[in-house]
Amino acid sequence: MVEYTYSTQIKAPFISSYIEGSYLLDYTVIMIYTYLFQKDVTDCSWDVAHLYEHAFCHAFFDYLSRNDINPGVYGFLNAEAFAHSIFVYACFYNKKAADLFEKFIRINNVSEKSIDKPLAEIGIEDKLSYTIIDPVKFYSQFHSINQAIWTNVSLLKTARYLDKTSLITSPFTKKNSAKSYRDIIISYYIENGTLNENTLMLRWSVMLEDIIRTSLNDDMTCYVTDCSPAYDIEANTIGRTQIMRFLRNVRIQDVQEKVEKTIKTFDVEKNFSYIQDHFNEYSNQPTWRDDPIVYYKFNNIITSNSYINSLATLDNLLLLTSKIRVKVQNYTQASSNHLRKRLDK
Ligand SMILES: [Zn+2]
Repeated sequence: MVEYTYSTQIKAPFISSYIEGSYLLDYTVIMIYTYLFQKDVTDCSWDVAHLYEHAFCHAFFDYLSRNDINPGVYGFLNAEAFAHSIFVYACFYNKKAADLFEKFIRINNVSEKSIDKPLAEIGIEDKLSYTIIDPVKFYSQFHSINQAIWTNVSLLKTARYLDKTSLITSPFTKKNSAKSYRDIIISYYIENGTLNENTLMLRWSVMLEDIIRTSLNDDMTCYVTDCSPAYDIEANTIGRTQIMRFLRNVRIQDVQEKVEKTIKTFDVEKNFSYIQDHFNEYSNQPTWRDDPIVYYKFNNIITSNSYINSLATLDNLLLLTSKIRVKVQNYTQASSNHLRKRLDK
């Protein structure tokens, strides 16, 4: 635990107004759109359910792109597959994205034609290589999942599955393939930023993480194995780090170039209304109200989510984004120890 003490000249801003104010609870307007859906997949092997879960996410991201929404800025999607059930939890900061999700869930059709990427992705996730050895069985299980309807979990009563193990055999062979993959550390940060730039970076870096991951995933098969909060990567810097797994033959330099290009070409202006929705929601969302504790812990900054929101103007974001640097390195024990040391608060 590293203790940080203020110099006598510096005081936490705004604290006196909270003490003197007549309110202790911030006023909150909730604008986030959240969904939890479940699909019963009892007739399938877990492997195919897992593949379907990944294929669903990719198909939805494609759907967003086709409707002119960058899949890096819509909100977030979390899907999880079990032997008898697939869950999808989705949150949107923006009504257009939420409406598209509602349509997509009703269409309920993920094409089995675009399974190459999801298949490679589950291989990377589990460090295995999957091969379809029984196509008839595979397509029949995939179709059976596709035909099952998505249930809105809010409408469910209760049921218990006695056995969470699927008895249905997998149409895949799985080969241990750890040596086919490599882990790479990707950091993006600003150096010698002003206090306001560092403060804005606390949240902008969260959005950048999604933008970078989505962009990398378009070109290369990859999987995030770990990510950091915003922290001081080196002295006088602030940024975030993510550890991603790639195929063994991917070159560090290619990843570096791709991440740099993604940040450089990301159209802040075109996406600004989505970015604003994100920041507005972020400053209003009750479950993120404790984020300032993390900011203080890792960055020695005391601020509020609403102040961060006030900094998220188009000009500030354009300037901040132009200052971002990228560092990509091979994942080694030494780099992992360095990372852990920086985050050991
Ligand atoms: Zn997975």
